[in-house]
Amino acid sequence: MSERYDLIVVGAGPGGYVAAVRAAQLGMRVACIDKGWVGGTCLQAGCIPSKALLESSQRFHEIQNGLDDHGIVTDSVRLDLAAMMQRKERIVGTMTKGIQGLFKGSKIDYVEGTARIVSASQVDVDTVADGLRTLQGQRLLLATGSIPVELPDLPFDGQHILSSTEALSLEQVPERLAVIGAGAIGLELGSVWARVGAQVQVIEFTDNVLPGMDAEICTQVQRQLKRQGFTFDMATRAASASIEDGIVNLTLVPRDGGDERQLVCDRVLVAVGRQPFAAGIGLDEVGVVCDERGFVSVDEDYRTNVEGIYAIGDLIPGPMLAHKAEAEAVVVVERMADMRPSVNYAAVPGVVYIHPEVASVGLSEEDALASGQQITVGKMLFRANARAHAMDGIEGFIKVIADAQSDRLLGVHIFGAQASHLIGEAVLALEMSASAEDLARTMHAHPTLSEVLREAAAHVA
Ligand SMILES: Cc1cc2nc3c(=O)[nH]c(=O)nc-3n(C[C@H](O)[C@H](O)[C@H](O)COP(=O)(O)OP(=O)(O)OC[C@H]3O[C@@H](n4cnc5c(N)ncnc54)[C@H](O)[C@@H]3O)c2cc1C
Repeated sequence: MSERYDLIVVGAGPGGYVAAVRAAQLGMRVACIDKGWVGGTCLQAGCIPSKALLESSQRFHEIQNGLDDHGIVTDSVRLDLAAMMQRKERIVGTMTKGIQGLFKGSKIDYVEGTARIVSASQVDVDTVADGLRTLQGQRLLLATGSIPVELPDLPFDGQHILSSTEALSLEQVPERLAVIGAGAIGLELGSVWARVGAQVQVIEFTDNVLPGMDAEICTQVQRQLKRQGFTFDMATRAASASIEDGIVNLTLVPRDGGDERQLVCDRVLVAVGRQPFAAGIGLDEVGVVCDERGFVSVDEDYRTNVEGIYAIGDLIPGPMLAHKAEAEAVVVVERMADMRPSVNYAAVPGVVYIHPEVASVGLSEEDALASGQQITVGKMLFRANARAHAMDGIEGFIKVIADAQSDRLLGVHIFGAQASHLIGEAVLALEMSASAEDLARTMHAHPTLSEVLREAAAHVA
């Protein structure tokens, strides 16, 4: 038996489920298919579980290390890792139910199973509950997301060589954790385990942590993480691993020549990036074109080359971020309904939830200069802000970059307490094409950390 929809969405991550809900709001009859990960990578093995563990581990670390100064003396603190993991799972469970409720409330047919495209108008779903189901649709939206990149010589084994998914669910704190890759995921999950007692060693092929971020922030982040107990092997390649009696021997090779060396550790987290995922879905069979890195190619309406098939989120080029997928989800569906919104890719915030946090939007100083722009830069330290002192958040700075002639904002880069919240104002300012002066003349409540942003903008010469 086949069922007919206006839109079939494959993938219930932040791309897929948001698109399904928006389509239902616009009056479409919608089916959303997922293998069972409602909320996708973001909810089941990404943004949300990682932030739950970052929060718990930071509190544990602070109670152990940071409260004497407040006059709060704690004599005995111990970690209950199982309870920490249960809390994380409860949060994921609550949010999963929330999305399921949204589907129900929006009259979206959620179909649990593995989808296979037969044509632009037909999808077969191998369901656990009802065997094979065939769905017919006027349009098909692919939002099948991404998976962790595996290193050929260090394949994931789920036990010792871990992807981010397993690193979110360890049953014991590893004594020695090697993290390959100093990007956001490696540093966030490294932070979780470092705060609860692991010795964390980061191996990174390039010269900087957080490659691509503002260079000054990268330097400060590395310094700060060293203070938190991290050690770093920069310009180094993790070549292979052997495992004996539960101990991993990792072979490290200096990128620029020199002797290789062995690193002994208990677990290895490979966090060298993510790749688009569409294996087995039938893209080749229906002729959907991908680029050389496997991302599905789309036009400004998110149409693939096959009439009636669209794609968004981690599956298409661009930053692999949940809010980027969500923004595309709304736009693709509204464009199907003949509305003309668009995603502003120049104002996609990026956040790294280490301590203190890193957040940025727009051009970095380096990018702006490389593109030949004349810029002016204003900078303000958190230590100049009274609220930062009150809340023990004096590390770091905010940097505002503006066009030298027009004063129009080009980028904002934050390393400091609550950067993930502070960046929201900067994103809006960029969206509205504000100038540094607009930010500087906007009244900010006192005493708040947002004053640091205002003052950085006021320092744009
Ligand atoms: C550890 C970690 C931390 C992260 N932290 C953040 C963060 O703090 N902020 C942020 O913005 N981003 C973060 N991300 C990235 C974020 O999770 C992704 O960018 C986002 O989930 C992409 O959304 P998506 O909808 O494109 O795909 P996904 O969320 O990957 O969803 C794809 C869905 O498609 C389903 N699917 C795939 N193939 C099929 C098929 N054939 N049939 C049926 N279903 C299928 C999958 O089961 C999955 O549920 C993090 C990622 C990781 C791994």
